[in-house]
Amino acid sequence: RHHGDGVLMQELPRPCRMMVLVNPLSGKGQSYTLYNNHIQRMLNEAGIIHTLFVTERQNHAREMVRDTDLSQWDALVIMSGDGLLYEVINGLLERPDWESAIRTPLGILPGGSGNALAASTHYYTGASSVSNVELLVSCGFLLCRGPVSRMDLVSIHLSSSTRLFSFLSLAWGFVADVDIESEKYRHLGAARFTVGTLVRLASLRIYKGKLSYLPVSREQKNKDSWSQRGEPYRNPMVSTESINVQQLGNIPSQNSRSLHGPPDSLLVPLDQQPPAHWVEVPEKDFVLVLAMYQSHLAEDLLAAPDATLDDGVIHLFYVRAGISRFALLRLFLAMEKGAHLATNCQHLVYTKVRALRLEPLSPQGILTVDGEVVKYGPVQAEVHRGLSRLISG
Ligand code: ADP
Ligand code: MG
Repeated sequence: RHHGDGVLMQELPRPCRMMVLVNPLSGKGQSYTLYNNHIQRMLNEAGIIHTLFVTERQNHAREMVRDTDLSQWDALVIMSGDGLLYEVINGLLERPDWESAIRTPLGILPGGSGNALAASTHYYTGASSVSNVELLVSCGFLLCRGPVSRMDLVSIHLSSSTRLFSFLSLAWGFVADVDIESEKYRHLGAARFTVGTLVRLASLRIYKGKLSYLPVSREQKNKDSWSQRGEPYRNPMVSTESINVQQLGNIPSQNSRSLHGPPDSLLVPLDQQPPAHWVEVPEKDFVLVLAMYQSHLAEDLLAAPDATLDDGVIHLFYVRAGISRFALLRLFLAMEKGAHLATNCQHLVYTKVRALRLEPLSPQGILTVDGEVVKYGPVQAEVHRGLSRLISG
C-alpha cells in the first residue's frame, strides 16, 4: 500500500448484490453509455448481481436510498459525479435506522464532471494517475475485488439550523465560485474546472470573513475542557429529536425526513463564540477557504496529497488576499501533481483540523459542500472518523 492507512474492514460477500445508481445527465451525459460499454460485463464476469436505477431528477437517488429495503443490497454504487454520492449519503442518514444504514458499503464510478472521490480512491491504491475511461475501468476493477474500508464523514451545520453530511469538501470563495459557475461547462467533463478557473481569475476578488478552527494538535485540551463543561453540543433541530425518536423506538412520519447521525462533540451553537482553545485566524480577507477530507478536489486536482480515507482529519487550506493572479494560477497548475504546498507560496496556509467555523461577512456569496450549493451564511463542521464505508482498498 502506497498511500492511506484506511483499515480494510471487510470484503463484499459473494454473490454480491449491487444497487447501481446512474445519473444520465452527469458529466458529458454519457454515464449510462459508459456504464454499458465498460462496467456491465466486468461486473457480470465477477459474478456480481447488479440492478441498474437511472435517476430521473435531482434528489431521486436520495429518496430511493432513504426508502429502500437495504437488506436487499450488499452495496450501493454511484455512477455519476460527486453530487449523486452526496445525495446517497444524506439519504442514508435520513433513515431512522441510520446507524446501520450508513455502514452499507458504497462504491463510486466516475461518470460526472467532478469525480473527486473516484480519483481519490484510485490514488489511495498507489497506482499512477489516470483519467477518463482508464479511471472508470480502475474503479470498476475495485468494485469487482470488493475491499471495503472506513471513510470519514464531516457533519456540517448551516445557519438555517440544518445539519448535513459531507464526504469530500467544504468550499468558499474562489473554489466555490469556480465549482458552481463552471456547471454550465459540464459538457467539457473534468476540463470544466480549468475553464472555470481561468474565467474566475480574470475577475479575481476578495472574500471577507472570519475563520476559526480546532487544530488536530489541540484535541486533547478540547476533550478536557468539554469534560468540565458537561454534555456535548446537540443541535436542537437535529440530534435531540433523533435521539428521542430512537429512544421511543417508533418514528413519527414527519420526522422521517430529518437528518440523524451521531451528535457533534466539538461544536458549540453558531450563535456562541467558538471555544476559547480554538485558533482564530487573524486575516479577514481571503481569496479562498477550502476544507478537504479526501485527496482530490477534482480528477486532476490533488489538493491534499497526504489525506487518507479515514484519517479523521479535515485538511484546511486558505489563501490570503493579496495573492497575484499569476501566483494563484501557478498554485492551481501545481495542484495537478499535488505540488502546490512545495511552491512556498506565502499566501497559502495549510493546517490539519478536527473542526472549523467560517463566518462570511459579505452579504452574498456561494458556499459549497461536496460541490453542491448550500445555504450561504455562517457554517461549522466536525469530522466523524470512519462513519461510512467505501469500496476502496
Ligand atoms: P457532475 O459531476 O457532472 O456535476 P453530479 O453527480 O455531481 O455530476 O450531478 C450533478 C447534479 O445532478 C447533482 O446535483 C445531482 O443531484 C443532480 N441529478 C441527479 N440525477 C439527476 C437527473 N436525473 N436529472 C437532473 N439532475 C440530476
Ligand atoms: Mg457535481
